[in-house]
Amino acid sequence: MRIAMISEHANPLAALGGVDAGGQNLHVAELSAALVRAGHDVTVYTRRDARGQPATVDAPQGFRVVHVPAGPAKQVPKDELLPHMAEFTRFVSEQWRDSPPDVVHSHFWMSGIVAVFAKQHTRVPVVHTYHALGTVKRRHQGTADTSPADRIRLERLVGNSVTRVLATCTDEVRELGRMGVGNRRVAVVPCGVDCDQFRPEGPVVPKRLPRRVVSVGRLVPRKGFADLIAAMPYNSDTELVIVGGPDRRTLARDPEAIRLRELAERLGVADRVRLVGQVPRERMPSVLRSADLVACVPWYEPFGIVPLEAMACGVPVLATEVGGLADTVVDGVTGVLVPPQRPKPLAATMKALLADPVKRDFLGAAGRDRAESRYPWDRIAMDTARVYEQCLDGTGTGRLATAAGASR
Ligand code: UDP
Repeated sequence: MRIAMISEHANPLAALGGVDAGGQNLHVAELSAALVRAGHDVTVYTRRDARGQPATVDAPQGFRVVHVPAGPAKQVPKDELLPHMAEFTRFVSEQWRDSPPDVVHSHFWMSGIVAVFAKQHTRVPVVHTYHALGTVKRRHQGTADTSPADRIRLERLVGNSVTRVLATCTDEVRELGRMGVGNRRVAVVPCGVDCDQFRPEGPVVPKRLPRRVVSVGRLVPRKGFADLIAAMPYNSDTELVIVGGPDRRTLARDPEAIRLRELAERLGVADRVRLVGQVPRERMPSVLRSADLVACVPWYEPFGIVPLEAMACGVPVLATEVGGLADTVVDGVTGVLVPPQRPKPLAATMKALLADPVKRDFLGAAGRDRAESRYPWDRIAMDTARVYEQCLDGTGTGRLATAAGASR
């Protein structure tokens, strides 16, 4: 198949860990690469966000990236990108006029709008992955949510206009139902993990204290790093390593890094909490392997790739029972689930796990098994391609299709 991916803000070639560069960039890159390995032709359309960016790049993994001129050629926060989507739509419509793709897969709601309008004059099916939902963001962030006012209405429009919605977890299916996007359009295919890159064997970054907890993510409050810092006074002889955010040079000026450091000072644990900033992808396995426990404790999380990466490395996961984490982390088998935003149970669970190396070993081994059997990207790409094929042969809607990878 000739597949066109649209990922308006998340460039699959970007470095991960910055404010608007995380799981979606990785998802688009890994899924595209796996679809290419399966024999498909993949082009990713993403916004040009730097001067001098070439119009087209052939990625080493075999997919093509087209940098679409839509808005200024510089980084623009994603919540300010909506006004530039008309230009984005005109560009792709023009590209597809003479040679349309077989299927369009849009990522994030604004790409969905581009896809829905760009395919208006063709019969090309559109498959959409939300990655995050405005309703959930609004519920958790309230007035701090900077999304455009129309986001929720437009997300519903996208869901009801595309051929198929690909949810990444069962919690998202429930949320889509509440939003007014019917189950008949929805299939579940989770994100994946590279089980060759993320594996239990390999180099390990040395520890500084007898026990280490690692947490990874963009430095935004909802990732729950403050809750982990609050758990530290109850966990002696333990260091907390927080990975993500800007690189080391600019980390000291990052407002969230400053807030977290101040909290650690106030609680008297600053000497055991280290913010290391952005870590390049190739070093991530050695950092995760160095942990006795990887903690992923967001207030909410559309999917969450880090727990899968930790599981693939054979490290137990302490996670909040939210979003995709409730599917990937099996409580008591590959990790332990705790309620979100509750530092006390979090601290107690962390303490119990850190005191029990035998349990940690067995959780870690089960995590590796689960990652290897259910989440390799080649399998995720196969499930995704099956949905594309159903859309092409007209069997694409009619019932809730649940790819095996999403079930427990
Ligand atoms: N990541 C990275 N370096 C960093 C921080 C994060 O490579 O400094 C990667 C991390 O390993 C994971 C992705 O970025 O693959 C984050 O995805 P996730 O779904 O956990 O969170 P999101 O950023 O999408 O909210």
